[in-house]
Amino acid sequence: MQTVYQCFPGGKFKCLTMSYDDGTEFDRRLVDIFNRNGIRGTFHVNAGLASGEKSASSRRRIPIEAFKTLYQGHEVSCHTYTHPTIARCPLNQVADEILMDRKALEAAMGYPVRGLSYPNGSYTDEICQLLSHLGIRYARTVTSTHSFAMPRDFMRWDPTCHHKQDLLEKGRAFCALEKSQYLYLMYVWGHSYEFDQDNNWALMEQFCAQMGGREDIWYATNMEIVEYMQVCSRLSFFADSSCVYNPSCQSAYLRVGQRIVQVPGGAQVQLF
Ligand SMILES: [Zn+2]
Repeated sequence: MQTVYQCFPGGKFKCLTMSYDDGTEFDRRLVDIFNRNGIRGTFHVNAGLASGEKSASSRRRIPIEAFKTLYQGHEVSCHTYTHPTIARCPLNQVADEILMDRKALEAAMGYPVRGLSYPNGSYTDEICQLLSHLGIRYARTVTSTHSFAMPRDFMRWDPTCHHKQDLLEKGRAFCALEKSQYLYLMYVWGHSYEFDQDNNWALMEQFCAQMGGREDIWYATNMEIVEYMQVCSRLSFFADSSCVYNPSCQSAYLRVGQRIVQVPGGAQVQLF
């Protein structure tokens, strides 16, 4: 029997994703940096605050009408409708906050919006249980793992690091990884207004220049990772692993011995 390993699309074993919250006007500059370097990510936004006016924190939010053009090629995802600290709220209000955000963002973007980042990093076990009933497929925390491991629980998706936490060093370590027996994920989060506040846009420019355009990295949005891992988990293998059926519509990629095998959606493929 040959060892069969799941791979990321294209047979890759490394993935980079970015996640930025609140949808302030500084996202424009951040999206531009991502786009110039082929880096992709997810923007977690509050539809109820996306009026284009300055908020209480005096940071201007991007108006929701501008989302579709600005965030093209990236993912727009929930961050609740008005950004409350949800661990303190009644669950019915948490449900409203998420569904109202989903509905407004879906109307703006024209695709299903099924991710979340917890506002103020706030959640409880009960909220985690509630999310799947509201159509949410993943939710990001603010607890850094400082590791490149895949998450165990997508409803408590701990990122690798905030961009203030040794970003360039972590990026270099990630690029140097060579042991393809693991799937590695580098997940960076933050707020674009912090670059303005801290006067360190050069940090993100340097990071994206260092990480972009590499053949061995899959650049994905948060939801693309969740969706792809589900494609892998739905594969139906023969008991001896010699053959596999892919019931999804998207291709899955496997490494069989030293070979990368693409298993197209709807196809059954002999592996060895
Ligand atoms: Zn926030």
